[in-house]
Amino acid sequence: MIIRVRFHGRGGQGAKTASRILGTSCFIEGLNVQDSPVYGAERRGAPVTAFTRISDEQILERGYVFDPDLIVVMDPTLLDSPAARVTDGIRKKGVIFLNSPSVTHITKQNIASDFRLVNFDLTNAAMEMLGKPIISSASAAAAARLIGMVKESSLEQAIETELEEIGLSEETIEKNVLLGRKVFSSLEPVELMTEESSRELKIAPLELILEGNGLEDITAAGNSSVSRTGSWRIFKPVVDYEKCTACTVCYAYCPESALTLRQDGKPVIDYDNCKGCLICYRECPPKAITLEREVVAF
Ligand code: SF4
Ligand code: SF4
Repeated sequence: MIIRVRFHGRGGQGAKTASRILGTSCFIEGLNVQDSPVYGAERRGAPVTAFTRISDEQILERGYVFDPDLIVVMDPTLLDSPAARVTDGIRKKGVIFLNSPSVTHITKQNIASDFRLVNFDLTNAAMEMLGKPIISSASAAAAARLIGMVKESSLEQAIETELEEIGLSEETIEKNVLLGRKVFSSLEPVELMTEESSRELKIAPLELILEGNGLEDITAAGNSSVSRTGSWRIFKPVVDYEKCTACTVCYAYCPESALTLRQDGKPVIDYDNCKGCLICYRECPPKAITLEREVVAF
């Protein structure tokens, strides 16, 4: 028996840490585990993929999980990104977990296999508990609960271990434990089809992964004007022109050059290209930039 989990998130959301927490919680349960991430150059907001394999036997597979039993979609806007290939390979009767208050829009996706959908608004839970949209613990908790092989105490121990390792404060770790507990207790396990004989293994050739539709949007040189990173946002920065002092700090800091200046020196945000990294929000001296959560409308 082997369970394959694939996390899809954006740089800064905690996909890599989520896969580690899930792996560690299963390891505490005495299972064999393996976790690994795939991401490009350091770029907040860019698609990130991470994998966890869990088994009661030795795991001989390595690399990309092409045919997951469970896909954890940490940011629903990734469903619209061909580059992210979020739903690729989902097994018949596999499970897609969506970090969203609603699941209606995924039915528009062109997914051949039948699958089951589960959703929970992890971002909202994280904002309430942590004050930030970082959902590593919440995503790991969702996956741990859905696969049904992890006790709550093992999840909590795994969150503490992994977050200590990356140097978070005791207070932040405690909040993450509470967040994980909340998500864990809000979901129910799902039955995963783990028999290898039922597996319809359709491994995408590597060249397809590397040259797949849309992936060059990210990797090709000099393409920032055609790559609409506006779809990456989870939160949208909004300038309050009453408070803005035209200091131009946001203009200087924006890594996407998504800000231009008006005649009066105050910034205008190009929402087609603002990727939602929120550096401008953090750096603005008079706190003249506020946040609005993006809502995907279909
Ligand atoms: S406008 Fe702000 S949030 Fe958008 S890309 Fe620039 S710094 Fe990041
Ligand atoms: S950093 Fe803040 S105050 Fe300065 S120009 Fe930008 S929005 Fe205005």
